[in-house]
Amino acid sequence: MLAYIGLGSNLHNPSAQIENALSALAGSDGIELISVSSHYKSKPLLDMPGPNYINAVCKIDTTLTAIDLLDICQSIEDNQKRIRKVKWGSRTIDLDILLYEQQVISSDRLSIPHPEMIDRAFVMVPLYEIDKEINVPLLGPVKKLIDRVNKLDVKKI
Ligand code: ATP
Ligand code: CA
Ligand code: CA
Repeated sequence: MLAYIGLGSNLHNPSAQIENALSALAGSDGIELISVSSHYKSKPLLDMPGPNYINAVCKIDTTLTAIDLLDICQSIEDNQKRIRKVKWGSRTIDLDILLYEQQVISSDRLSIPHPEMIDRAFVMVPLYEIDKEINVPLLGPVKKLIDRVNKLDVKKI
């Protein structure tokens, strides 16, 4: 199954946190890392306090189910000492499953496509960088959706 994961960090050397999470994904059973975007810098959502973020998106090929992939993502977050306090608060690492094949999933633990993805430049710009032809189920081609976001919200580094 092809899946796309968005990574973000704004604490304790964000770029290294992202690289560490990518290595952990690549080293997980049932996950093959296919491609990774550049790193992008952005400001916290809704002007939340805290340092700027570094974000990236990766494409994987996986034999895992979506929920098993979420378990892996959350164990990587735990390993990197993510502490959950306030919603959208600062974090060492955040792994969001953006797309899983062309499936639409809506359960207690999982919403795919990731509900906010199409409004976030820090997701759409790196996603478009690595795959210009992908479609977001129910919402349309990334090629069109990319025009909804303000590309000035992110800076490639
Ligand atoms: P946002 O989801 O708006 O980006 P967030 O990433 O800060 O916010 P978290 O605290 O990381 O939110 O996640 C809260 C819960 O979201 C997780 O426990 C997980 O069960 C759920 N969740 C739902 N859909 C997804 C998804 N596609 N990828 C990752 N987590 C998801
Ligand atoms: Ca997130
Ligand atoms: Ca998350």
